[in-house]
Amino acid sequence: MTTEIWLVTEGEHTKATVYGPVGMPDFPEFVWKQDDERVHIDGWNELYQLLCTKNPVGLTPAYVDERLVEVLKHWLLTEAEGEDSELRMWIDQIVDTDPDEVMAARWICRARHVMVVTGAGMSTESNLPDFRSKDGWWRNIDPVTVATVEALEKQYELFHAFYQARLEALYEAEPHQGHNILAKWEEVGVVSGIATQNVDGLHTAAGSEQVHELHGSIHSIRCYSCGQEAELHAFHEGRGCDSCDGKLRPGVVLFGEMLPQKAWDEALKQIEQADVVLVIGTSLEVYPANQLPWMTRGRTVYMNMELNADASAFDAVITGKAKEVLTKLDKKLELYCANN
Ligand SMILES: [Zn+2]
Repeated sequence: MTTEIWLVTEGEHTKATVYGPVGMPDFPEFVWKQDDERVHIDGWNELYQLLCTKNPVGLTPAYVDERLVEVLKHWLLTEAEGEDSELRMWIDQIVDTDPDEVMAARWICRARHVMVVTGAGMSTESNLPDFRSKDGWWRNIDPVTVATVEALEKQYELFHAFYQARLEALYEAEPHQGHNILAKWEEVGVVSGIATQNVDGLHTAAGSEQVHELHGSIHSIRCYSCGQEAELHAFHEGRGCDSCDGKLRPGVVLFGEMLPQKAWDEALKQIEQADVVLVIGTSLEVYPANQLPWMTRGRTVYMNMELNADASAFDAVITGKAKEVLTKLDKKLELYCANN
């Protein structure tokens, strides 16, 4: 009984064929034929090496035996060189997944600095309501009336109740697998930092260290009048500032306030240096954080449940929940980029 494994690529002037009617499926022998050149290949490793040397990306894949898929996936994710459009064509023909997902994994594999920008969608799987999606609880409360300096000054009771409820919701929340993956990627040197619009502290809780909180942190309490820091429990008890009896507030950026300069500057610096920017779970509606993805010279990847008009401006778009998408990417990296 013979085994046939085929990779046939067809281009305008050249044709590469791998075929091998001999050997066992797990240790096949192939012949690589390109133009008039014939090369005998002994095993998957040699085939992989040949793919790297010959780099047939410019050719059109016509037929690929499914037993070649694994070695081709590995090659496409790591070594293959070519225009994005050519690589996408190969992925489309060969790998039974979303080309954008494979391209994103490929860029992360090869990147020196990956920067991450996260929004509310990053936290929804930690049982936190997302403010802008259909089920977000801000649908019932207009944020412009509560998360504002005006509410803090003139409707302190409502302001206080709103942030107390948000803090209480946080006690139930824990980082999910997606947060953990980003923390792990930082630990192994893939991710250089995270700029987040979230004030919940979940990235830090998961172990990420380079976290730039663009909208501040809900956990730090200070006096609105004199700026002195206060304990969280003082805020919960509805007390005033110890020094001046001023109103206590969480350290979040309210509508109408400036972003913390240091967090912004550091995020921007890392984004400018990044080879890849991953934008996760944000509808990109809030200025100026929504400008960050466009301040890189690197590739941009958008991951969100719902796509908006800006999505087409990204180099790759992956639809899905943060946890699911990051888990899928992480699995690809572990399988194919272990030595990276
Ligand atoms: Zn004070």
